[in-house]
Amino acid sequence: MSDTPLVARSPHREHASTAVVVGLMQPDARDVTIGDGAFVIAAGPCSVEDRAMIHETARAVAAGGARLLRGGAFKPRTSPYAFQGLGTEGLEMLAEARAATGLPVVTEVLDVRQVELIARYADVLQIGARNMYNTPLLAAVGELGLPVLLKRSFAATIRELISAAEYIAVRGNTRIILCERGIRTFESSTRNTLDVAAIPVLKRETHLPVLVDPSHAAGRAELVAPLACAALAAGADGLIVEVHPTPANARSDADQSLSFAQFEAMMLQLAIIAGAVQRPIVPLHGEAKVLPIGAAPRRARAVRAGSAR
Ligand code: PEP
Ligand code: MN
Repeated sequence: MSDTPLVARSPHREHASTAVVVGLMQPDARDVTIGDGAFVIAAGPCSVEDRAMIHETARAVAAGGARLLRGGAFKPRTSPYAFQGLGTEGLEMLAEARAATGLPVVTEVLDVRQVELIARYADVLQIGARNMYNTPLLAAVGELGLPVLLKRSFAATIRELISAAEYIAVRGNTRIILCERGIRTFESSTRNTLDVAAIPVLKRETHLPVLVDPSHAAGRAELVAPLACAALAAGADGLIVEVHPTPANARSDADQSLSFAQFEAMMLQLAIIAGAVQRPIVPLHGEAKVLPIGAAPRRARAVRAGSAR
């Protein structure tokens, strides 16, 4: 018997995949399905920095075609002197941005002690690369019904990522989305090396949806769109990507954050590839849900390719 029976693709159900519906627990969220054939984009800043920037970013990425809002409130920084996130205040700002736009929220949980708090605000609990091996944390999110975005450690094999997912599933939560975000190699021109092969391998070995994080893989904004296009072409179910109103001023991951214009340009490129590989990119419906707060409202623009869902 396989040692990952719950997440492994069964040889008897070769084509059956699990789609994860996100946004069912929070009344303000417009739900979105990850893994049903559509290509789904989660976008937002590395860290929530203040109320205005998270609202502005949420509106911009929703208008550009994103279906989820990302943003860290508790940040796993390499240096203890670097910005660690706004904590609970950041979670509140994310919830307000969700109420304004309808975008479900993806945010990171760093520690078992935060799980209950973050679950009150989040639509998807992100387990970061540094915590992929934290089995008590995997078990804790496995006790909940909230979807989990499980990122591959930069030093993990694909098999170890699949085993980490099984730690969540064995507790009862099978609403797991895997994420390839680049691994450490001898190559130093990029922050990490995007393991494109991990996408088809994970799709073959498991029945779980797979997102790609081109931002942490690239480490440089100009490389994000090409990696995003590769992810779509290789069969990923979507992306999680960093976007900031003024990337140069970002308090974390400034070099890899896309401006709104760069995000829009990437979405246009993705739409072309999506058409070629017959994968719809379904934008947030109902522009009326994108409420103006502060800056001038932007009209939601449809980014459609392939057949509608
Ligand atoms: C993040 O997505 O904010 C993050 C810290 O990524 P990773 O855990 O992949 O480094
Ligand atoms: Mn980041």
